Amino acid sequence: MSPFIIPLFIPHQGCPHTCSFCNQRTLTGITCPMSVAEGERIIDEQLSWKRKTVEQAVEIAFYGGSFTGLPGEQQEKFLALAARYVTTGKVQGVRLSTRPDYLNDAVIERLRRYGVNTVEIGVQSLDATVLQLAQRGHAAEAAQEARLRLRASSIRCGFQLLLGLPGEDWKSWLKTVQETCRIRPDFIRIYPTIVLAGTELEKLYSKGEYRPLLLHEAVERAAYAKAIFQREGIPVIRIGLQDSSELRQVGRIVAGPFHAAFGEMVESHLFQQVLSDLCGQHERQFGLIRCLELGHHAKDVSQIRGNKNNNIQCLQKRYNIGKIIMYETKTPKGQLLAKIDDWRYVINKKNIK
Ligand code: SF4
Repeated sequence: MSPFIIPLFIPHQGCPHTCSFCNQRTLTGITCPMSVAEGERIIDEQLSWKRKTVEQAVEIAFYGGSFTGLPGEQQEKFLALAARYVTTGKVQGVRLSTRPDYLNDAVIERLRRYGVNTVEIGVQSLDATVLQLAQRGHAAEAAQEARLRLRASSIRCGFQLLLGLPGEDWKSWLKTVQETCRIRPDFIRIYPTIVLAGTELEKLYSKGEYRPLLLHEAVERAAYAKAIFQREGIPVIRIGLQDSSELRQVGRIVAGPFHAAFGEMVESHLFQQVLSDLCGQHERQFGLIRCLELGHHAKDVSQIRGNKNNNIQCLQKRYNIGKIIMYETKTPKGQLLAKIDDWRYVINKKNIK
């Protein structure tokens, strides 16, 4: 079971950079610096909220900026606050997000001392040109170096990847995905690049020097990456930005493939691919498909059908399938019991080639 996360957003505190895509105030909706007292109030309040089960672990998360870029004494104050809750057993872990180049040995030793168990690194891309165009101010190698240091300190490490940045094409995204597999973080989050108001990217966009991905292009890139990471056994714990009223305020999103159901669309695309592969292979071997029956988990139905039944319609049209029947059955999520005329198959969207 995933832990119950108590997020403390620290937008831009500690970050002297202005990456072209970033406006942390827009993403978090918070403009005032977080104080330790405010952090304590939020933790106490959220600890009183009902959780899925009493066994569900609780973690405090410092998100929204580059935590390890804060002055040392400020980091210590926040970490000491979190550690108090860990010591009393009210909280089981502490996590934070930061840049890859803000994780030297001394910094990691401090995190280890205060019991931080997970660090999420804003890697964004592992293509040097893309990083340079995004004005990240560090080399691609920084992510691997940080990952190795964290591993040596037994701190879990997640990568946050941003697809569709300026200068990124399929080849470049492929490189980022392959390099990520080689470095092997413990988990991954994938976000599409959105043009936010007040960013460098907005200026490029308004001058016509940057074209954000279309929604379907972003879904394809994310689905490709998810399929590869799944195959490599690296969990993808989130795809797409968290929807929020702050983000949706008029004028905050200028352009780009933002969709509240982005993650669902990616899962749906994976179903479309696995079904298309199966029907294509069957058709090549046995000819025309008269009837396709699909037994599925109850919760997969909307992803299999796709938006407005699009997946089913495309499949039917592409392979000229006479009839498609869907029914619920006790199969695991992601797995399909397919019957094409007299042939039976078990397929899973985790096993896309
Ligand atoms: S993405 Fe991270 S490093 Fe870049 S400006 Fe935003 S907070 Fe700073």
